[in-house]
Amino acid sequence: MIYIGCHLSVTNGYEAMGRTMLDFGGNTFAYFTRNPRGGKSKDIIPEDAAALKTLLRENRFGPLVAHGSYTMNLCAANPSTRANGLDMFAKDMERMKLFENSYYNFHPGAHTGQGAEKGIALVADALNRTLTADTKTVILLETMAGKGSEIGRSFEELREIIDRVTFSDKLGVCFDTCHVWDAGYDIVNDLDGVLTRFDDVIGLDRLYAVHFNDSKNSCGSHKDRHEKLGEGYIGREGMKRIVLHPALQNKPFILETPNDDNGYIREIHTVLRWINER
Ligand code: FE
Ligand code: FE
Ligand code: ZN
Repeated sequence: MIYIGCHLSVTNGYEAMGRTMLDFGGNTFAYFTRNPRGGKSKDIIPEDAAALKTLLRENRFGPLVAHGSYTMNLCAANPSTRANGLDMFAKDMERMKLFENSYYNFHPGAHTGQGAEKGIALVADALNRTLTADTKTVILLETMAGKGSEIGRSFEELREIIDRVTFSDKLGVCFDTCHVWDAGYDIVNDLDGVLTRFDDVIGLDRLYAVHFNDSKNSCGSHKDRHEKLGEGYIGREGMKRIVLHPALQNKPFILETPNDDNGYIREIHTVLRWINER
């Protein structure tokens, strides 16, 4: 069994997201800790957070996967962009304390011309400045498609970040299926091989969550254009094999496919059918 859900808007509060996901038929979800593009955040009302926690427990939800803002670039060359990113990251970690068992996933960033080595060093530095011995949130580095100067385009790059972080026991990886495919890992013809590679380089014990997306482009395209389940190059059978893979059981799977609410409801039910048919 896996947990399935999609991204939800935090506009109506936290408990409301839980209720929406119950209506959708899922048992996990993702949300942006702040406006994904603008970077602003709303205050969390403690009663609202508590109500969500009760709902999650009573309905046996899997871990939630909060997502850092797209504008947070911890390895930007521009000093004010990076300082702004560090500030968002520190504040997000503070907010995540209300949801101790949640995961917090973010894009390692784009080195913007400084080179991958420098980018990796800057991301690790940001993690070292922010994580402490009593950080309770599991921080997930997302596998990236390798668009532009993105860091995290290979398992090796993620490993290098992890190796440089003092409290690396707090770190995991979010496996984005579209990104991994676009980065050049053939999860259609060799899913076992790719996961074995992941295990060798990073360790499957660090794989905490999956972003479950089909791709509009071919393997190795470095494009990062998500597609609806079964309508892209990974395809229906490819997506289904991922859901059923033994190494990925009990993880939250988050849809980031181009859909409206009804599209997400359909995809959640498709995934539930795959689980029940096995
Ligand atoms: Fe992401
Ligand atoms: Fe993603
Ligand atoms: Zn993407």
